[in-house]
Amino acid sequence: MSTAPLQSQYDEFKQLGLKLDMSRGKPAPEQLDLSNALMAALDGYAAHDGTDTRNYGGGVGLPEARALFGELLDVPAAQVVVDSSASLSLMHDVIVYSLLLGVPGHAPWMGAQPVTFLCPVPGYDRHFAICEQRGINMVNIPMTEDGLDMDLVERLVASDASIKGMWCVPKYSNPGGVVYSDEVVRRLAAMKTAAPDFRLMWDDAYRFHHLGDEKIGMANILDECAKAGNPDRAIVFASSSKVSWAGSGVAALAASPANIAWWTKHAGIRSIGPDKVNQLRHVRFLKNKATVEALMEQHRALLRPKFDTVLALFEEHLGSVPGVSWTRPKGGYFIDLVTPPGAAKRTIALAKEAGITLTPAGAAYPYGLDPEDSHIRIAPSFPSLDEIRQAAKGIALSLRVAISQ
Ligand code: PMP
Repeated sequence: MSTAPLQSQYDEFKQLGLKLDMSRGKPAPEQLDLSNALMAALDGYAAHDGTDTRNYGGGVGLPEARALFGELLDVPAAQVVVDSSASLSLMHDVIVYSLLLGVPGHAPWMGAQPVTFLCPVPGYDRHFAICEQRGINMVNIPMTEDGLDMDLVERLVASDASIKGMWCVPKYSNPGGVVYSDEVVRRLAAMKTAAPDFRLMWDDAYRFHHLGDEKIGMANILDECAKAGNPDRAIVFASSSKVSWAGSGVAALAASPANIAWWTKHAGIRSIGPDKVNQLRHVRFLKNKATVEALMEQHRALLRPKFDTVLALFEEHLGSVPGVSWTRPKGGYFIDLVTPPGAAKRTIALAKEAGITLTPAGAAYPYGLDPEDSHIRIAPSFPSLDEIRQAAKGIALSLRVAISQ
């Protein structure tokens, strides 16, 4: 580490005139290249039941695409719907249908004002944006090393019937990298809720996205809910966004038979059918769980050095700075850099001046309000390894300058 005064190190860094965007967890071009065989994966348009995939129809997805996601999510194919690219759209639509029409056997959420969601924090900004835009109140739930403060969750849902749902990113959460323990999964499945129409929005976005050597598994939420007598409680979301192509993948929703029937009925109003040509080429290319896992290994080989580089540079430049810490994720797309209270916004502004765009401060909290102004989401996937080296150093310098002022 340089012994020059901090401010001059930062000023010198600024002179480099960098232009780096680390604000979103986007796959890098080399990762997208891993799936270029998608372009040649089709030798015809017919699905194996004879469906012409170019035409309208098939609202629940092609049988072979449902079977593939069934295998990936460990759910019977009949309990899976495969749609077009974004799982976020499926989450959005589940919430809108629930608000406007109610979940199976229940009145619309909208009639019961207010509607509240529990939001584990730090969490995914786009989840919170859906709630904010749809007028759903959000309550922060602190995340812990093995998931959530479950005593608090159980107490809240048992006593407040306005709590209709909860966001969950059960594995390698965005941005904290938290993995729910099996006990947390079981408690969520079995807890008593004052609202009989309560839903767990189970966003399994990073199910196969390991960074470490260990392939972490997890109790099956749909099985646990069924065992606990709450079969309709969880709706599972996943996609191939960070498996194949983020902008042109396929998304899936898995749930109880009653929820699948409910979804199919309402989604049939919004579309005459998903992009089945893309589903078919994904089935041809991804094939099965073993081939998906092999592809994820290739992603890991590209991502791991970037994460390791950030972690090593943070250790070098921030290791001895009091009040600063960061996560060492075993999977997913993010590192959560924790600053002393009140320093995240300033750090992000200084990094921006030095040419590094980071996710806005507060984004990992409902309403953009990080109560301590101390979380910075680092997304190392997109820039090259060289750029990552510069960016990690620049972020560390920005943070040290921020807390010295
Ligand atoms: N959920 C989480 C937790 C994410 O981090 C992301 C992408 N950043 C998504 C969902 C988006 O998924 P999709 O591309 O399938 O809409």
